[in-house]
This record gives sequence, C-alpha cells and structure tokens, in this order.
Amino acid sequence: MGEELKEKLFHPKENGWKNTDETKKQEIFKLSKNYMAFLNQAKTEREFIKQARKLADANGYKDIIEFETLKPGDKVYFVNREKSMYLAIIGENSIEDGMHIIGSHVDSPRLDLKPNPLYEDTGFAYFKTHYYGGIKKYQWTTIPLSIHGVIVKTNGEKIDVTIGEDENDPIFTITDLLPHLAQEQMEKKLKNGIEGEDLNLLIGSIPYQDKKVSDKVKLNILNILNQKYGITEVDFTSSELEIVPAFRARSLGFDESMIAAYGQDDKVCAYTSLMAMMELDHVKNTAVCILSDKEEVGSMGNTGMESHMFDFFVSEMLNKLQINRPNLLDKVFCFSKMLSSDVDAGFDPIYSSVSDKTNAGFLGKGIALVKYTGARGKSGASDANAEYVAWVRNVLEKNNIQYQLTELGKVDIGGGGTIAYILANKGTDVIDCGVPVLCMHAPYEVTSKYDVYAAYETYLAFWKE
Ligand code: MN
Ligand code: MN
Repeated sequence: MGEELKEKLFHPKENGWKNTDETKKQEIFKLSKNYMAFLNQAKTEREFIKQARKLADANGYKDIIEFETLKPGDKVYFVNREKSMYLAIIGENSIEDGMHIIGSHVDSPRLDLKPNPLYEDTGFAYFKTHYYGGIKKYQWTTIPLSIHGVIVKTNGEKIDVTIGEDENDPIFTITDLLPHLAQEQMEKKLKNGIEGEDLNLLIGSIPYQDKKVSDKVKLNILNILNQKYGITEVDFTSSELEIVPAFRARSLGFDESMIAAYGQDDKVCAYTSLMAMMELDHVKNTAVCILSDKEEVGSMGNTGMESHMFDFFVSEMLNKLQINRPNLLDKVFCFSKMLSSDVDAGFDPIYSSVSDKTNAGFLGKGIALVKYTGARGKSGASDANAEYVAWVRNVLEKNNIQYQLTELGKVDIGGGGTIAYILANKGTDVIDCGVPVLCMHAPYEVTSKYDVYAAYETYLAFWKE
C-alpha cells in the first residue's frame, strides 16, 4: 500500500544504467567512442571549430555568406575568427515565432604562452605561461603536456602548431619539487603551493655548439623552431599557443562506463549538440547551435558570447529570409527558447560535504537541468521561469529521456555561471542543461557515458520540438 503510494508520489532519481538494455548500451558506447575520437582531434577551441566545420560541410551546411536568400530547410553556418561558430537550419515556422537555440562553449581551462615566453635558466629552456580559466595550479605540474595553436607572421602567413599528441612527438612538462625538499611548500595553503609565475614549461636542455655565444640553450631551441616553422623569437608576440594535457580520451572503469578526458567542460555538450544538429533535416522551428569561445574567462571579446557577433548572424538570417525590419531581431530573441548546454558539477562521494545530496547532479542519472546558477543568494543567476522548466520537462518526458534538476553545490559554498544569462538578458527563455562532470577544470575530467548519450537525446528532442 505504502510502496504503491510512494511509487506514485515520489520523484526517484534512478541510476540510468538500471533501465538500459544491451541494444541501448551499445548505442551509448558507440556515441562515446566517436566522442572520444573527436576529443583527441579537438583539444582547443580552434581545433574544435575546424572539426565542426568539416562535419558541417560534409552534412550539407554552407557558409551563410554563400546564400543570397534563405528558405526553410536551408542549413547555414558562420565561423567567427576560427574560434566560435553558429549553425542553423531554417525552420518551417516563421523565425519571428522564435528560434530553438542550444549554446555551448568550446574553450577549456589551459595554460597560454605569454607574449614573450622563451627564456633560459641554468641550462634549461622554458616557456612562460599565463593560465586561462579557473584552474587548481598544482594539477598542471608533472603531467605530459602538448602545445597547440597558431603563430601568425606579419605577412599574414599562419602556422599551425600541434606538438605532443603524436606518439613520436616529444611532450613537455612543468616540474614540481621533490617531497624530500618540499617541507616549506607543503606547509603552504593548497592554492599557493604552486604559484602562477612558476607554471613554466620545460622545453629543452641542449646548448648550441658555440663557445662564445650566450643563452646557448635558448638559441638552440630557437634554431630548431626556425628550421621547423620558419619563425624567430618576435613571432611569438603574434601567436596563440595553448598548453593542454597530452593525455588521450579514454574509457574509465572495469565496466568502461565513464570517460576520462581533457576539456569535457564543455566539449561534451558542444559535441553532443553538434552531432544532434548533424542528424536534423527539416525542423518546425529554426534550430540554432552555438559553439562559443571565452566562456571560461567571462565570455568577453569578439569571440565570446557577450559580443554582437551572434546578433549579426541572426540579422543575416533575417536579411536573407527577406523579412528584416527595425526591432525584429529583438522580437526573435524574445520569442526564442534556449538550452544553455554547459556541464554541471557531478556529485563526488569523496567530497560529498560540498553538495546537498538532495539537489546534486549525479553521474549516470541523466541530463542535468540547472534552473539557476549564481552564488551567495543566487547572485548573478539566470533563473529559468517555472513555465519554461515545465515546457522542457514535457519535451524530456514525452521522449523518455532521464533528467535531474540540480544545483551547483551547497548554499553559500561557491558557485558559477554559464552563457545562460547572456541570451536570457535578450529576452530568451533559457535553462542550463548539460552533463554532470567529476573533477571539472582538472586536466582529466570524468563523465558518464550514460549522461553523454542523454545529452545527445535531449538536444535532438529539443530541436525536433
Ligand atoms: Mn562550462
Ligand atoms: Mn568551466
């Protein structure tokens, strides 16, 4: 009697694997396998966008610039400075009735080279770095690191750099003190154990063979770089070189239920939404996929979501649909719906004290909807309206997709944000909707394959709605 009533009235948050049959499990594992292969090709925002563009081209999408006019069913994209991208399928309904937007970010915490990175000290050559995004600095020492990015010469020539990924490439690392001599260091607060200025990448130790010249190791490195890339030291000043973990994405656990990989925040949502977008053909409402940059440092700049580049893209759609008029852009935003597809903090039993177990996001329990983020009394939160949460729930429930409504940690313990507020400020209905992650922002982040698949299903269902 009580059990029946309980079943009827309670909202259980079940482990998704429990109701997964073998066929579904194979599908889940297949998507994750492709996801891991993609991650290995796309560790930085530029690499992600490059791969995304290839996929889009192969699936009938074209640069919006190539279109004179647009009609329902047309597939368009716009690549913004190789670092962010918007894709859209024009819907059967008028775009005036609003778009269905899914927005993720493709940048991840990392170490960037300083503008003048190269120096020599006591027989070693180093690159100086400046960390990007919120990292725990000690996690970035004594792990294999690779260098990715571009060097642009004054004549406009752009040199792509990827070193440390191929088995035959060398890797790089940042040293840390041996425990035998670390007594003082170990007394420090964890956040001060490794200083930002000490995150210097070890890149060489052979001196240039010439008795008289100084800075021999630095000279030898520059000579190697000159032969390999045709650059001199000044060319670093117009480069964007990013240091990322050299690990590959791997299945995690004896049961292979999880994924360990760098940059899953937020490439897991970026990838699953992109794959869902590639599945779509005709849609009722104009479907838009945002792959943004600079989320980890506040979404500023002309590749970040705060810029007007997205407005420009939507305006171009309105122009080419030949319906544009003053203030139409505002109207379109006000009638649009959005999933801010960004990762959620997964509940970690080892660090359970930071979470409210009743409201935490759990790995393996499905897509996480975060009604509001923010910190200290929801400050800075974009809080989804109950009406919109109900609308999203309905989409998920009728498509049999398992979801959980979550909060980022206990009250007053911390907080965070996503790009949700940016579109919400334009009048769009937005809710955060992503995959729970363990050790977010660490060089190796952990997700559940079940949730990765749930994200894919969610994004597909939202766009088909
Ligand atoms: Mn994120
Ligand atoms: Mn993040």
